[in-house]
Amino acid sequence: MQNRWVDDEVVGMDDLDQLVYLSRAMGVEANLVLWGGGNTSIKSETLDFRGQPVRGLYIKGSGSDMKESERRHFPAVDLDALLPLFERDALSDEGMVDYIRRCMLDPSAPRPSIETLLHAFLPHKCVAHSHADAILSLTNGTHAGEALDALFGRDVALVAYRRPGFLLAKEVAQAALSNLRPRGVVLLNHGLVTWGSTAKQAYDTHVEMVSKAEEFIAERAAGKTVFGVQRAKRLEPERRRQVAAAVAPTLRGLVGYRQRVVLRFDDSAEVMDLVGASDGKELCGIGAATPDHTLHTKRLPMWVDVDDPEDLAEVKSAMYLAVESYANEYREWFEAHRAAGVEMLDPYPRVVLLPGVGMWTTGRDGAVARTAGDIYRHTIGIIGGAQAMGEYRTLTAQDAYDAEYWPLELYKLTLAPREKELARRVALVTGGASGIGRAIARRFAAEGAHVVVTDLDAKGADQVAQELLAEYGRDRAIACRMDVTSEAEVSEVFRQARLAYGGVDVVVSNAGMATVGLIESLPVEEWRRALEVNATGHFLVAKETVRLLREQDTGGSMVFVGTKNVPAPGKEFGAYSASKAAEVQLARVLAVENGEYGIRMNIINPDAVFRDSKLWSDDLREQRAAAHSIPVESLEEFYRQRNLLQAVVTAEDVAEAALFFASDRSAKTTGAMMPVDGGLRDAFPR
Ligand code: ZN
Repeated sequence: MQNRWVDDEVVGMDDLDQLVYLSRAMGVEANLVLWGGGNTSIKSETLDFRGQPVRGLYIKGSGSDMKESERRHFPAVDLDALLPLFERDALSDEGMVDYIRRCMLDPSAPRPSIETLLHAFLPHKCVAHSHADAILSLTNGTHAGEALDALFGRDVALVAYRRPGFLLAKEVAQAALSNLRPRGVVLLNHGLVTWGSTAKQAYDTHVEMVSKAEEFIAERAAGKTVFGVQRAKRLEPERRRQVAAAVAPTLRGLVGYRQRVVLRFDDSAEVMDLVGASDGKELCGIGAATPDHTLHTKRLPMWVDVDDPEDLAEVKSAMYLAVESYANEYREWFEAHRAAGVEMLDPYPRVVLLPGVGMWTTGRDGAVARTAGDIYRHTIGIIGGAQAMGEYRTLTAQDAYDAEYWPLELYKLTLAPREKELARRVALVTGGASGIGRAIARRFAAEGAHVVVTDLDAKGADQVAQELLAEYGRDRAIACRMDVTSEAEVSEVFRQARLAYGGVDVVVSNAGMATVGLIESLPVEEWRRALEVNATGHFLVAKETVRLLREQDTGGSMVFVGTKNVPAPGKEFGAYSASKAAEVQLARVLAVENGEYGIRMNIINPDAVFRDSKLWSDDLREQRAAAHSIPVESLEEFYRQRNLLQAVVTAEDVAEAALFFASDRSAKTTGAMMPVDGGLRDAFPR
């Protein structure tokens, strides 16, 4: 492991800046800490709210990610108020959290790490703690005692596994202060603690010990097949993705039975090595490496047993059986270890392994699924390292229960804000680069959806997706070029959605085009083009949607953007009105055919949405202005005056209607048509 400390870079830094520097140096090393794991602290003189000097402990806030550390992520705690706790014999988790909260020097700062006391009880100025993979490979196995002794001798003290909290903090301090004068403490099934009189010293010792462990493991792993021989047929990358796309919606429906989830597919080399190996299933059935890993991936992944991963029917039925037995075993494990009054969480897996194909991780959103994937890949590395030295072992079933059902974590869940209306859902929008489609993509993303933005204009779609990513975070949107008249392109986009998220829940079929001209003079090519885009385009999108939603078996909602011209056609809009009428009739037949699967099909009929619209080209505006004998600048005003509410209809108004049809608020409505036109008497249904 590389030592990233550069003395010149810390010249003139105060204690807190050095702590930030140390934390970042550790945080960028994925083999040390991942996604909020690990923590660091420094003890430094500071002032309390009265301006009186106090000894402060700056400690990483709970949940913040080390690689993105800033000063504000390290709340200061009054060290002299914390230290008397060391004399106690016991302290409950709740009592500890409450006590620490009262010692905060700034009550509005982030909540200090749950491992605050571990840092406080060590007398050293700076403390660094990680869940380094190499250290876990050493501690998690039959070889732990011997290997640690051979490697570190008296340099480190060992502390037996115990869930983080008051007692662990006390035991670490007692081990650190023993007569043997260790330079670090290794916590079994948990990680490493080092310290120093400077941040650099704490860091250097940490890097030195982890590097030593890494080298030791590498030597022992040389020439060994740590997961056993490769047994399963390993498909070629392209074939793996085809299989993954084909079966993902089935899996998504099964593991999202209680609560919808987003899937993330991963067929990286380390995953393929594990899932193809003869001992893979047995090894990953031993359990996650630490309580921290358990919280992200659960104790066990789900292994899908198949002989031939290319036999899709076999894979799907194997998935069905695997999910059923996973949930049953989870239930049994929960019942065997449960504490009084605790409710069982979702019994479905966070990690799914399919030999020959790869891994899916699940989460309430793409980022959570990604985190679980990153953590499981490190779990694979830890297992491999342990196998190189001996036999991988980890937390007992009871310890794993106590980690997953840790009251403090359960309490955190109750504090989580209420989920947004389209949270956990994936929405695909056609014609999403501008106008109504873009407004819908934005509205849905604001309500928590992951959005597949598609458009003939690939660049425009990409811009919208980038905007959503910047606003709502990683993994919340992808962009795909899609010509709705091309069967191959439509199906490729759905394949991308299956791979990116495991499926879709909502599809807005919005892409369309306007054709103007009296029927007597309209060239047949223009008529055909209108039918291609406004009728066949919706047919192709609907066909893929229905197939996917039926595989997923979770119901779903499809929204068709029609037009006021369907109930109230206008002169010179023959091709447009007739092709859009075909779209609407298609939607109704789809409603009839798919109601029994819980798939809803509804139609929105907007009128005169000018702003930001590609449909209203300059040509079309001029033609319509001429037809109504008004100047082109007055066109929007003309349409406004035409409706009962005298309202300017915007793309955002249409997006509100789309959100209603997409969400469960319209759960009992299908085959319906909703106008968003300011009120047009001609367009009233009759
Ligand atoms: Zn820890």
